[in-house]
Amino acid sequence: MKCRKCGQKAAINMRHHKLALCGEHYQEWFVEQTARTIRRYKMFRRDERVLVAVSGGKDSLGLWDVLLRLGYQADGLYIDLGIATRFDYSGQSFEKVEQFVETLWPDAQLHVLDVNALYGATIPEAARISNRGRGKPCSVCGLVKRHEMNRIAHEMGYDVLATGHNLDDEVAVLFSNVLHWQTGYLARQAPVLPASHPGLARKVKPFCRFYERETAAYALLRGIDYIYEECPHAVGSKTIAYKELLAQLEAQSPGAKLQFYLSFLRAKEEGLFAAVQEREEGRLHACERCGQPTSAPGLCAFCRLWDRVAEVKRPPVPTTPL
Ligand code: SF4
Ligand SMILES: [Zn+2]
Ligand SMILES: [Zn+2]
Repeated sequence: MKCRKCGQKAAINMRHHKLALCGEHYQEWFVEQTARTIRRYKMFRRDERVLVAVSGGKDSLGLWDVLLRLGYQADGLYIDLGIATRFDYSGQSFEKVEQFVETLWPDAQLHVLDVNALYGATIPEAARISNRGRGKPCSVCGLVKRHEMNRIAHEMGYDVLATGHNLDDEVAVLFSNVLHWQTGYLARQAPVLPASHPGLARKVKPFCRFYERETAAYALLRGIDYIYEECPHAVGSKTIAYKELLAQLEAQSPGAKLQFYLSFLRAKEEGLFAAVQEREEGRLHACERCGQPTSAPGLCAFCRLWDRVAEVKRPPVPTTPL
């Protein structure tokens, strides 16, 4: 297989695009496609400040790299979740992020937030104490990441928050949401989520049209070293099972995932789920303590979570001997 641009040996063949490219032309194509996605969905402008949530994985580091190559004002945010269940997942992830900065972008700005140091418990510990998520920390993890990304973006004056979700991630979530007809989630799934409430940042996913193998190929060709292992808590998750199922579909019918996702976005543009979105937004009000939107009365789930952790971990009051 030869590169369509220069005739050299191709490094990647994308059957759904009927396009084979060598390493150099693939990188060029990948960066251009990201720029097109940013423009197509009006994600952000040159004068806006972007905060990229980096986890140490190929997608988020690749995204930060591409945004910097395109000349955007993009800074990174690493959230240390304190996950060390079977191996030091958080520690190793952070090493990859630090290494990325040192070797490729030594002048880039990286913010680091340590959940344990700030709130007094790691994510697995907070999940255990609060008993949320049926033994898995993922629901607490998602809640904390969403809240903290918004808080940092707001407090530090970023206009937009970018995450490295790729097409495979988006399609697996879409499939799950359709399977369970989660209309509220379907209404909110999009390449751009506008900042609908004060205190919320606009959220964008510039890699939403790239297959996972495309983001992995970019990272490898660009020389980005990333964490290969999944988070230990992802093992056995529904999302992984859906991804396997969807991979079979894609093997039989190349481009099926992209079509599924793009058709969904078109249907939304035509007004599908517009009423649901309006209803959901009408339910939200500001949390009494942190100000972030919530549908719960009084305090949001994040504030209630850390209240519960503080209650359980509070040192016992010393009793004075009689
Ligand atoms: S699998 Fe993802 S959501 Fe679950 S604990 Fe790990 S990083 Fe958090
Ligand atoms: Zn080439
Ligand atoms: Zn709150």
